[in-house]
Amino acid sequence: MFIGVLGGYILFVAKTLSLYIHIPFCIKKCNYCNFYSIPYKSKLVNKYITYLKKEIELFSPDQNYTIKTIYLGGGTPSLLSFTHLFKIITAIKNKYVISENPEVTLEANPINVNKTAVKNWKVCGINRISLGVQSFNNSELKILGRLHSENEIYPVVEIIKEYCTENISLDLMYGIPFQTKETWRLSLKKAVSLQPKHISSYCLSIEKGTYLADKRNEYTFPDENMQSDMYYQMIEYLAENNFYQYEISNFSHIGFESKHNLAYWNGEEYIGFGPASHSFYNMKRVNNYSEINKYFECLDNQELPIENSKEISIREFISDKIVLGLRLNQGISLSEFKEKYNFDITKEYEQITKKFLSSGYLTIQNDRLKLTSKALFVSNSILSEFV
Ligand code: SF4
Repeated sequence: MFIGVLGGYILFVAKTLSLYIHIPFCIKKCNYCNFYSIPYKSKLVNKYITYLKKEIELFSPDQNYTIKTIYLGGGTPSLLSFTHLFKIITAIKNKYVISENPEVTLEANPINVNKTAVKNWKVCGINRISLGVQSFNNSELKILGRLHSENEIYPVVEIIKEYCTENISLDLMYGIPFQTKETWRLSLKKAVSLQPKHISSYCLSIEKGTYLADKRNEYTFPDENMQSDMYYQMIEYLAENNFYQYEISNFSHIGFESKHNLAYWNGEEYIGFGPASHSFYNMKRVNNYSEINKYFECLDNQELPIENSKEISIREFISDKIVLGLRLNQGISLSEFKEKYNFDITKEYEQITKKFLSSGYLTIQNDRLKLTSKALFVSNSILSEFV
């Protein structure tokens, strides 16, 4: 808690916190997905919401937090009914102080969007929608195992704008089997034509245990060079259309960056509720059990469903800060970092920074350490050296 003095009054300013709520249900598993998700069954969802409320009530932070962002992710949170959503939001409001203008995001699948649902989202305080579009090409959507078609996307975006919010983010994917630079460009063009405020991009990776991994011999996947071309093609096209890249894979109009994700990248505290969710608070990294029955069992015993809780050292905290901070296009202010954490990045990581500065993967501009353009597509291998 920060204590300041203003005009003779002592101010107690609660720490801000971001909340993530995991909704693990999906109608059907997508062909590329290895997230924790389970088939939607209405009875199970009812039970889950009761337990989720229980978890929210049971968790007692030892500080006064003000919630600045709430993110309902999944799975498919747009499958929830008004009553379910309302119960979750009420449980949060009963437990925490909410900031004046919280960002409240709901991840939505286009197949769940209709006027009634969207109006209800607004009533529940949802003011940002992250829409899982992935592609505007029907063959690509079929390969991904998505349930919507291109033509369903357009009216869905209009309904969200008219009845809930203009603050829409579209998820787009590249590296899809048989995708070409032309079809990717067309998807980008169609996405931009819908005038979303934000675009998140994902490079398809084939994860073990997924349908696409099993069928990989039947498909032709864009190779790494092609993926890289698609990535830089996207950066160029979105820049031409007034989307600025504020993070390796995220683009927005100014003022519409994802506040929730920025909290992660700025190394701020967050708490996740639901199976498989993660938290970071009080210098601890915590993760919940993934399996829903284990989750229920813990809460039946009045215990939080925590599988692991690990205190992190100052050094780990600093290394996280660097890795996350370098994801942002503004990079890290070296002088601020030194002042705040008494840590000189270029000295403490002398060999690594020298290596990447001389090879042109890192740059220092006006005191800010940043990834260069050519480093963005291979950022994982660069950032891993700071761990
Ligand atoms: S909707 Fe999302 S979470 Fe569900 S299966 Fe598809 S990618 Fe996975």
